[in-house]
Amino acid sequence: MGKNDVTKYVSENDKEKESLNLLTSAQTVIHDALNRLGLPEAAFELLKEPLRTLHVRIPVRMDDGSVKTFSGFRVQHNDSVGPTIGGVRFHPKVNDDEIKAFAMWMSMKCGIADIPFGGGKGGIICNPRALSFSELERLSRGYVRSISQIVGPTKDIPAPDMYTNSQIMAWMMDEYNRHRKFDSPGFITGKPLVLGGSEGREEAGALGAAICIEEAAKIRGLRIKGARIIIQGFGNAGSYIAKFMHRSGAIIVGISDVYGALYNPDGLNIEYLLSRLDSFGTVTTLFDGTITNEELLEQDCDILVPAAISNQITAKNAHNIRASIIVEAANGPTTIEGTKILSERGIFLVPDVLAGSGGVTVSYFEWVQNKQGYYWDEDEVKNKLHEKMIRAFHQVYETSKSKNVNMRIAAYMVGVRKMVEASEFRGWI
Ligand code: GLU
Repeated sequence: MGKNDVTKYVSENDKEKESLNLLTSAQTVIHDALNRLGLPEAAFELLKEPLRTLHVRIPVRMDDGSVKTFSGFRVQHNDSVGPTIGGVRFHPKVNDDEIKAFAMWMSMKCGIADIPFGGGKGGIICNPRALSFSELERLSRGYVRSISQIVGPTKDIPAPDMYTNSQIMAWMMDEYNRHRKFDSPGFITGKPLVLGGSEGREEAGALGAAICIEEAAKIRGLRIKGARIIIQGFGNAGSYIAKFMHRSGAIIVGISDVYGALYNPDGLNIEYLLSRLDSFGTVTTLFDGTITNEELLEQDCDILVPAAISNQITAKNAHNIRASIIVEAANGPTTIEGTKILSERGIFLVPDVLAGSGGVTVSYFEWVQNKQGYYWDEDEVKNKLHEKMIRAFHQVYETSKSKNVNMRIAAYMVGVRKMVEASEFRGWI
């Protein structure tokens, strides 16, 4: 692999204007990691695109009697290590490039967490806020019918993601079981407890990120008690991170949702905010004097946690970030150019594929419990997650020191290893 090849995957255009294409970003970092590991170009040829991408159209009977047809996707990046796994996102702006990038990131998360899965991801282009409960149910069931040929507990395991939750997982599981005529709770994770869900699953992504915040703070000699934290996004990840860090004595000085952001250098009333949160992660509409999400990122704090959407820290604002630690709880919140600037400025960044690996780790625990039919208590799940997160964090940190690379590249170097080895044994490389 030639040293300069990596530039091939950054378009000409990026020299003036950085690329916000998530697939290009994922490919560029994977290429860089493989290159640094001295792996052949064939490895990149295999990993640069998912093995399978299924596009589906889902007709849904709406409450007013009309039929509306939705578009959806299911992507399986690499199943050399084991079945693929990954969330299903309901969002008006999902597209196939984005879902492919998310599936590649799931592969990295599985490799970093050292669980026997590859990455997958799914999505439906829809606005869940505009759908009734029963329309959501019909859409969820329709999606499962359209992807049922390629998913299953030993093939590809769906899970929750943005704007999908345990109720949607329950409908999807029920539809799969009706269709396949057998009961298979391991088909999907993030289920309600009573249907074979795992203790600790709902907050697992946030707990994993909180563990990374604590480890990063130790490395930087920052005490969590009294540390000032800004969290962008107050959905499942952001709200639980706020709760955990508040409980640990940190001061949450900023939060945001899709409509705006709140910032108070003396700290926000997190308990009140959590009590007023709606199921879409919205809370700022209750207040006057909000600032924008862009403004929030540039406010003074010690730790910044982007927990919302992609491409938030870019070449445009990376110079203005005032945090000394960034922990990415969202997928792809920082662009390649943004990462470069933050590294040059000495900001310690814990990348998404590491900080966000807690969700899929507990999805794996849920699948294991479904397989053995024996369920663990909350402490057991949390202890096992803690152990895995600590091991993953330090493996990535040691790699970043020994190879003299930033934490993102180090995370990918750790993340691709098992997948490449398994693919070599299988004769795919
Ligand atoms: N959707 C979450 C993620 O992006 C979790 C996926 C899972 O539980 O498998 O990591």
